Amino acid sequence: MGKVFDGLSRRDFLKLCGGVAATVGLADLFSVEKVAAALESAGKKPPVIWLEGQDCAGCTISLISLEDPTPASIILDKISIRYHETIMAASGSMAEKVREDTIKEGGYVLIVEGSIPSADDRYCLVGGKPFKEIVQETARNAAVIIGVGACSAFGGIPGGTPSKGLPVSKIIPGKTVINLSTCPVHMDHLAGTILYYLVTKKAPPLDKLNRPVMYFGTLVHDNCRRRAHFDEERFLTDWNDPKQQDWCLLQKGCKGPETYGDCPIRRWNNGINFCIDAGAPCQGCSEPGFYVKHSPLYAMGPATDRIMARKAAGLIPKKEIV
Ligand code: SF4
Ligand code: SF4
Repeated sequence: MGKVFDGLSRRDFLKLCGGVAATVGLADLFSVEKVAAALESAGKKPPVIWLEGQDCAGCTISLISLEDPTPASIILDKISIRYHETIMAASGSMAEKVREDTIKEGGYVLIVEGSIPSADDRYCLVGGKPFKEIVQETARNAAVIIGVGACSAFGGIPGGTPSKGLPVSKIIPGKTVINLSTCPVHMDHLAGTILYYLVTKKAPPLDKLNRPVMYFGTLVHDNCRRRAHFDEERFLTDWNDPKQQDWCLLQKGCKGPETYGDCPIRRWNNGINFCIDAGAPCQGCSEPGFYVKHSPLYAMGPATDRIMARKAAGLIPKKEIV
């Protein structure tokens, strides 16, 4: 058991497990006892290989910036990250041996951050080896494969570069890749997906883009606090007009009506805020096409036209206030 649990009575431990499950969105799916059993039996610490390809390391930064203890950190404390190029102490052949030995052992969690170049393998080599080969051989014996961030899920920003970055799923056909597609990955999403796996030994129910429904089942737009302004067509056009400060950001490029994610409810940075409440339109980072097809990011564009046309056709009805 990790240090977080030391000295806790059984009652307090169960209370903590209930809080952990609620925070990562699993309280309705699993009983407190099931979560407690999963965290207790994880004393063996399931091995994890975390690969990084064409990425900015933003997902890794989210991981290492986790405050301790948070529900996500409590769950992630239950895994053993055996291989992670950015944070592991070993390097060179010693590091590669750890990866090879873990592959031989099998049954590990594979997390991939970043996309895979399709234009030319040489855009991304690790230890002189094409990243594509590394992902393919590491996926072979993985118990579960998780793509973190927009790049690994759908190609992301590297998808729009000359390297033509591909999502992980495209290079390991036949394998299920769970896509946690925000940019960067939300640590609650990662921790909750791992907890789901620890409890059930399965992937959580996924949408048609292989994202967990428990996190990507609703549109950002449907839970946005500016929604009433959208419904009444009060669109912010002038950042300097105090009267408009809470109005809908559609005309500033918001993609919330086409973007699935729980950001308005879960929020970011330990629940402090999220893009729209901080005054930035949703860029649709969790959707395929981010960011090239979502450009311009801060102005009206094709997405605005599509959304307005759907609104005019009555396809985005007013949200009922209950
Ligand atoms: S368009 Fe964007 S800012 Fe406006 S209500 Fe929808 S999600 Fe919120
Ligand atoms: S609000 Fe939109 S751009 Fe911001 S993190 Fe959520 S999905 Fe991504």
